[in-house]
Amino acid sequence: MKFAIVGAGFTGAVIARELAEKGYQVDIFESRKHIAGNCYTERCKETGVLVHKYGPHIFHTDDVEVWEYINKYCNMMPYINRVKSTYDGCVYSLPINLHTINQFFGKTLSPNDAKEFIALLSESSIQEPQNFEEQANKFIGKDLYKAFFYGYTLKQWGMDPTNLPASILKRLPVRFNYNDNYFNHKFQGIPESGYTEIVAKIIDHENISVKLDTFFVRNQKDEYTHTFYSGPIDSWFNNEHGVLGYRTLDFEQEIHDGDFLGCAVMNYADIDVPYTRITEHKHFSPWESHNKTVIFKEYSRYCESDDIPYYPIRLVKEKEMLNIYIDAAEKEQGVSFVGRLGTYRYIDMDVTIGEALNAAKITINCIKNEFKIPVFFLDNVR
Ligand code: FAD
Ligand code: UDP
Repeated sequence: MKFAIVGAGFTGAVIARELAEKGYQVDIFESRKHIAGNCYTERCKETGVLVHKYGPHIFHTDDVEVWEYINKYCNMMPYINRVKSTYDGCVYSLPINLHTINQFFGKTLSPNDAKEFIALLSESSIQEPQNFEEQANKFIGKDLYKAFFYGYTLKQWGMDPTNLPASILKRLPVRFNYNDNYFNHKFQGIPESGYTEIVAKIIDHENISVKLDTFFVRNQKDEYTHTFYSGPIDSWFNNEHGVLGYRTLDFEQEIHDGDFLGCAVMNYADIDVPYTRITEHKHFSPWESHNKTVIFKEYSRYCESDDIPYYPIRLVKEKEMLNIYIDAAEKEQGVSFVGRLGTYRYIDMDVTIGEALNAAKITINCIKNEFKIPVFFLDNVR
């Protein structure tokens, strides 16, 4: 039995390792010149700073199994993501917390006062928010929404927030205390030597071979018992039913002396600032010391054919097209669609790893019982 894995991101690496551990031969194909997919980190030659090449990546999870898994392959350093936002000439704390509320409204509210105050501002008439704007107005009111979310979201998604689903905002907490941790998860950290080293260790197994700079095409699957494909689902079918919409990112790199931002991530909520945020990479490794600093200004735009797909747009039009591809995939033999691109979803690293472990477990069980390996490992991919 021989397996092909398309993509050397976390999805491909984890599935490959689990199968290799069971004694199966695995060939990984990766079209880029490096492993680790979008989680790739590398040292900047000029400054020595560890750079998150495809955007800032902080590991956070509630899943104990996934946390233990990742800790087998790295020294995870304690890290709390504290994001700031610049709006109209002032710097505020994110996610929206008591500090943000007091600073923005020029008040000294206690947690209980702030709850009452925001309840008065929020639109209680909205029962079931139908879009991003309604969700924001229901929970924080118009003023905070206009300041911190309207402009940023317009730049990030290239469309009015009334056209976006409420679920995008649901990812962010609102707090009535001074906790400015961007995430709510129990476990959070940054790997001491970056993500590339983790993926390198995961795929370092005698049964795994890796072919970089090699684009896998559909008919190559015939050479394998089964293929796990973590590339874009539409690209597997040569985009024959259309191209699924993504947002892509452009990173404009600058090198400066000393400290540029004073923090790892600063968001820019004003519409007239063309970038959405600046990342200063050395603050992701506070245990290191560097005289110079690397920053990325991040610009978001529609993803064209030669760009790297980052955020699936997943609106009505895209979901209709996705359904056509899912129908086509379900008729396909010898392949499973996995990962963020194979299932056209935004998923964090912990979810990616959890799903990959699950896919491998199901596969091993199917082989043992001579069942067909599923095309998708999710209850509902639509
Ligand atoms: P990918 O990493 O995209 O890997 C897929 C690989 O397949 C790619 O390397 C691609 O080149 C390759 N490929 C595709 N088609 C082919 C083909 N035909 N032949 C060969 N190779 C092919 N998650 C967090 O947990 N924390 C964060 O802070 C965080 N920040 C993020 C910031 C940004 C800007 C973005 C966009 C995502 C962020 N994520 C974060 C999510 C994280 O990047 C994903 O969870 C993760 O990359 C998914 O891994 P994957 O292996 O499914 O996909
Ligand atoms: N968002 C915003 N202002 C901010 C941060 C986030 O309007 O300062 C919105 C934006 O639409 C974004 C969404 O909230 O897509 C989710 O934020 P998150 O930080 O999870 O974005 P991601 O990590 O996906 O870039």
